Amino acid sequence: MTAAFGVVSISASVRSGEVRALDVLDAHLEVVASHEAGVHAFNEVTAEQARVAASMIDGIVAGGGDPGPLAGVPIALKDNLCTAGTPTTCSSKILQGWHPPYDATVVQRLAAAGAVFVGKTNLDEFAMGSSTENSAFGPTRNPHDQTRVPGGSSGGSAAAVAAGFAAGALGSDTGGSIRQPAALCGVVGAKPTYGLVSRYGLIAFASSLDQVGPFAMSVADAAALLDVISGPDPMDSTCLGEATARSASRLGSGVEGLRIGLITEMQGAEGMADDVKARLALAADALSGAGAKVDQVSVPAVTFGLSAYYLIAPAEASSNLARYDGVRYGLRAPGSADITDMYLRSRSAGFGDEVKRRIMLGTYALSAGYYDAYYGQAQKVRTLIVKDFAAAYENFDVLLSPTAPSTAFEIGAKSADPLTMYLNDVFTIPSNLAGHPAVSVPFGVGDDGMPIGVQVLAPALAEPLMFQVAEVLESLAPPAPLSASRRSLRALGAPADRGAAL
Ligand code: GLN
Repeated sequence: MTAAFGVVSISASVRSGEVRALDVLDAHLEVVASHEAGVHAFNEVTAEQARVAASMIDGIVAGGGDPGPLAGVPIALKDNLCTAGTPTTCSSKILQGWHPPYDATVVQRLAAAGAVFVGKTNLDEFAMGSSTENSAFGPTRNPHDQTRVPGGSSGGSAAAVAAGFAAGALGSDTGGSIRQPAALCGVVGAKPTYGLVSRYGLIAFASSLDQVGPFAMSVADAAALLDVISGPDPMDSTCLGEATARSASRLGSGVEGLRIGLITEMQGAEGMADDVKARLALAADALSGAGAKVDQVSVPAVTFGLSAYYLIAPAEASSNLARYDGVRYGLRAPGSADITDMYLRSRSAGFGDEVKRRIMLGTYALSAGYYDAYYGQAQKVRTLIVKDFAAAYENFDVLLSPTAPSTAFEIGAKSADPLTMYLNDVFTIPSNLAGHPAVSVPFGVGDDGMPIGVQVLAPALAEPLMFQVAEVLESLAPPAPLSASRRSLRALGAPADRGAAL
């Protein structure tokens, strides 16, 4: 029962007064205390602030007020989301010790809805990576097997939910950083349509691709979180100006008669494991058994997605990361001869290898003489991908693919070879380039017993339809394995002490 300790069930029982927000929080903090040392999901656990917030929620409930739709729900925040007064590091030495002066819009919205923040989660430095091994503060470990990676870059958020440290989490997804770790940790993770969610206070990696999105133990819980964080924001000019249909509005509608396309180019990609392929086929059969019309569809340009992404994302990153110069934020190398020397020494000491690699790639792709050949070409490929998706959606309502090419790999297995690491995102990147939504849903395990995710892709702003299909997929999936620490959370939730709905 993945709904136990879920977002929707916790808020319902806190709102009704059946359970105290403080008890829900304490149950999660006990699991953090016993398992965080092994998992390392957090850069910082904000237990004291969380207790204050939870007590306030309980006070509102006791006084007969409305504590909000996420009352008392423990949430973990990726450490690239600004939190006023709480350090926000992007898991980089260059931002160590920096305290943002404001909360990101998504953080404000969660707080206003009654959520309780458990802590800031580890990530690949500046969200560049697929394993959370690129953190300056050490890797996060997969709660299902601590010798393996949780995926990345939002590996800390995915691990926090899988481990039972929080009921939900926020991550950011530029090329797959929510969906791939969700798949590897056996949780649900969704990237919304570009512009559905405000990026104000999300520290920029590649601004035309970045989106904030939710992690949760169930599709309904992920949709509930997304509905709280989405919507217009005057602080982000790329945020859509008008409210859209609620992501949860079509849950429970089934898939009868829906046309689902299996992306041909995503069934035999380089490095794709047989067990992942087999799971995808089972997922497609299950949906067709539930009344959907499932067919193959070719989306040819997606095969160039990875190459285009690794020009566009580094190009934007090289510009976005120019602001870390030792003057305004975080680290400043001491003893410099002049300002140029200070920039050089601060950036050399503050950035890790992968970030430096991206800055160099991006600067090269944008340089005079190479701009048209690299950055310009990549933008053309991006347009082709948009066109090919549009053609596919003329005949299909949603598309289906694996989320990641394999289950979680051993820590260290791919860190020496950046290209092999980049291949992790081959199925997730096209949705970022197109600006479309996509969600990863756990669908059984691989030969090694580790979780496998299936991805549901939808056209722009079709989140309601995407979650509708995802929920059916979830209901047809084999029972998901719970990590040992999440099982211990369930054990704490004995109905007599903590309320049946927990
Ligand atoms: N793994 C991809 C990268 O390294 C995607 C990262 C992300 O989505 N933030 O760029």
